[in-house]
Amino acid sequence: MAGRQEERQRRLRPAIFLDRDGTINEQMGYINHLSRFHLLPGVGEAIRRLNEHDLPVVVVTNQSGLARGYFPESLLDAVHAEMHRLLALAGARLDGLYVCPHHPEAKDERYRLNCSCRKPKAGLLEQAARELGLDLARSYMVGDRWSDLRCGAAVGATSLLVLTGYGRGDLCYIGPGQAIQPAHVAEDLAAAVQWILERERRRTAQTM
Ligand SMILES: [Mg+2]
Ligand SMILES: [Zn+2]
Repeated sequence: MAGRQEERQRRLRPAIFLDRDGTINEQMGYINHLSRFHLLPGVGEAIRRLNEHDLPVVVVTNQSGLARGYFPESLLDAVHAEMHRLLALAGARLDGLYVCPHHPEAKDERYRLNCSCRKPKAGLLEQAARELGLDLARSYMVGDRWSDLRCGAAVGATSLLVLTGYGRGDLCYIGPGQAIQPAHVAEDLAAAVQWILERERRRTAQTM
């Protein structure tokens, strides 16, 4: 029994979880129109590098704009189709995309829920882990908000803060004395991916 558990654990893969707004695309408030969705520089290439290293890339995003009635689900679908299209142009792809549409005070009662998936809660990561066979403790969470770091910490993942989006502002939350600290602070997603790949290379060298 223990052997089977170990076997299963070995088969689980580490993933790279990415926040969306401010990490992949420019921070523009609520993305309530396609014209507000712009990939940040170097993002396509950074995700392609993860693809080339066979590291699953999973986007986890809070989209309370749905709950607040700022945009319909059809707009969110169109934005994500555009995201996939722009990434594909750079030869990159996502292995998963998980969205929390909830808010406890949602205008639309379908989304009015004190859910367990709105970051910093870990529901999206846990769902992805179940569905994609991921090892959360060996995974990485990259985002521009302190809530992303808290979310990563909640599942024992290695968290990185990027300084794009709200990152520079949220640096104030990780001063001395704060319990939750990022393992690394990176200028942008490309720099975060560079750090992750170097760390993975060292880890693989150690276990060989
Ligand atoms: Mg963000
Ligand atoms: Zn939720």
